Amino acid sequence: MPDVVVVGAGPVGTLIAALLQRRGIETAVYERRTAISTRPRAVGIHPPAVAALRQLGLELHGARQITRGEARDRASILGAMHFDPPVLTLPQHTLQAELDAHVRHLRRGAPVLTVETGSHAARVILAGGSVGARLVIAADGVGSSIRSSLGVTWHRRPGHGRYLMADIDDDGGLGDAAALWFARGGVVESFPLPASRRRWVARAATGSDLARCVAERTGISLPSATAEATSIFVASQHIAERWVHDRVVLLGDAAHELSPIGGQGMNLGILDAVALAPCVERALDGDADALTRWESERRPSARRAVAQAAFNMSVGVPVPGTLQPVKNLLVRGLARGPAARMLARAFTMQQL
Ligand SMILES: Cc1cc2nc3c(=O)[nH]c(=O)nc-3n(C[C@H](O)[C@H](O)[C@H](O)COP(=O)(O)OP(=O)(O)OC[C@H]3O[C@@H](n4cnc5c(N)ncnc54)[C@H](O)[C@@H]3O)c2cc1C
Repeated sequence: MPDVVVVGAGPVGTLIAALLQRRGIETAVYERRTAISTRPRAVGIHPPAVAALRQLGLELHGARQITRGEARDRASILGAMHFDPPVLTLPQHTLQAELDAHVRHLRRGAPVLTVETGSHAARVILAGGSVGARLVIAADGVGSSIRSSLGVTWHRRPGHGRYLMADIDDDGGLGDAAALWFARGGVVESFPLPASRRRWVARAATGSDLARCVAERTGISLPSATAEATSIFVASQHIAERWVHDRVVLLGDAAHELSPIGGQGMNLGILDAVALAPCVERALDGDADALTRWESERRPSARRAVAQAAFNMSVGVPVPGTLQPVKNLLVRGLARGPAARMLARAFTMQQL
């Protein structure tokens, strides 16, 4: 019987498994997918998460560095902030492939049906049998069926919106900067990606077209391939009422959903996992409160990250034309001097 079973081999589940195995804790991972999903998701990895991943021995090969963020009004720059250390961009599936190589006992194509838990051990029920463990870590994502089966309430938090997104070739016009336009029609974000690519995201109503939104709000023409590459995501935010339930711990998106608009759910999950690993070791050594202490320590970070994402989303909502100059003034103020330094720290998650 393994000491720990991790359900879900997303970036957070794989990371906690790797961290526990390095501590000599017998850990098995069960993942329902047969292969890593290449659906575009996280790209930004912030300095604290970069440090944690590098410590584990990851090279993050091919990542692109972002050292500058710009707030723009069409072609003019309202303000800029500098990221030192830089933010890296790397597609989530590339990071996932590197993480997978650091984990043993990862079984793909193995959906967990449910988990039974008591106060000393838990049992993971699979299609073809069951596995006992002293602790189960449910890293099974936003739609966590384990969270539901435990009856844990999923509290909705402020921050909701519909966005269009595409990763396309970068014409180099914005250099290595991340750029934000707080336009009248809604926010547009653009981030440099590895291999001369760029991610474009725009808040948009149903029926809108990404290239048209970007052209109207920024004056930049995206290539015709944008339409084919466009996906839609609806951002919403939730925090699970409890993260520790007897011998089951909720981790990553299973514990908190953050809006991708500056919310950085994967980064938060990485930091939670780094903090969890020593607490799991203590819990297995008989410290009855180690896991609840971890939850109390990490929960404020989730609340701060959710609040920051809600703020980011609120700045990006469409405004009537008469209010746009006021908004530009506000953005100009926020993107200069001490406020810009504070925001740069917040955007790079150095307070989480
Ligand atoms: C468009 C978009 C952009 C984003 N951009 C960023 C960003 O730039 N930076 C950032 O930090 N975050 C970003 N995020 C958020 C980030 O993608 C998530 O926070 C991250 O994937 C969470 O990782 P996880 O391991 O907790 O969950 P997931 O990645 O969802 O992994 C959960 C895994 O569990 C598996 N699973 C589920 N149920 C079962 C079961 N019953 N049995 C076995 N396996 C199961 C799933 O197949 C999956 O592999 C973005 C999200 C979106 C949608």
